[in-house]
Amino acid sequence: MRLIDVHIHVGNRFEWTEPAKRLWMDTGPYVPAIFDNAGNQLPQQYGDAIKKEGVSGGILIPEYSPMTAGVMPFERAREIHKRHPEFIPVANINPNYHHDVFEAFEEQLEGGAKGLKIHPIHGLFYANDQRLYPLYAKCEQEGLPVMFHAGTSMFKGARMRYSDPYTFDDVISDFPEMKIILCHGGRGFWYHIAEFMVKRFEKVYIDISGLPPKNLLQYFPSMLKFSHKYLFGTDFPGVPGIKRNFDELQILVKDDAVMEKICFKNACELFGFWK
Ligand SMILES: [Zn+2]
Repeated sequence: MRLIDVHIHVGNRFEWTEPAKRLWMDTGPYVPAIFDNAGNQLPQQYGDAIKKEGVSGGILIPEYSPMTAGVMPFERAREIHKRHPEFIPVANINPNYHHDVFEAFEEQLEGGAKGLKIHPIHGLFYANDQRLYPLYAKCEQEGLPVMFHAGTSMFKGARMRYSDPYTFDDVISDFPEMKIILCHGGRGFWYHIAEFMVKRFEKVYIDISGLPPKNLLQYFPSMLKFSHKYLFGTDFPGVPGIKRNFDELQILVKDDAVMEKICFKNACELFGFWK
């Protein structure tokens, strides 16, 4: 089966903060394979390490969160994309970092971004921040998917109030045609709200990255019934194993048609891989 990982982080190792490395990146086995001794990401090896796990395409996520995770600029995603065109970048914008959010977004779109990732709890702003509304309007109009980090973060400096689910509900209501992916499905304390949003709103999806696959049906009891709204992702490189997660998911799901949707088809339709 073909596999798409919609949640791959990029960046030089030294660009990540210490808590990010300790609490997340180092939980995976990939560090020695994807960075040189100075901590620069090795774009060829980065993609190779992911593909070795059976992945045929993916979404590359830069991040501008100086107070929590670090600044891993869009260029890092481009470096990998250049050598592995089947991995495509999304933009990342932080209204507390980018002076002119619209201009910064346009620049990243010109650089090849095929969507937008928003990280309220790391960037310390709300999902419904008015400064982001022109970006949402553009994404809605042009059919660009918007990924939101939805749920908690253990990184130092993260503030839980910025993951308030009802601020996401505002965005969903204000941009009903925008394709929205709730990354991690409300991890920590609002799985059931994220699940409700997926059931209730036509354009809302969940990516299962950063969650132990064996627990997914406890978090989202209707996942199999709504399998057209769930996406496989891993939070690479902070994942014990991409293939391992895929295998665990298969054991849980036990249905090839459902697996095909979650692991491949839904991502293809949303992001237009290989079009
Ligand atoms: Zn992530």
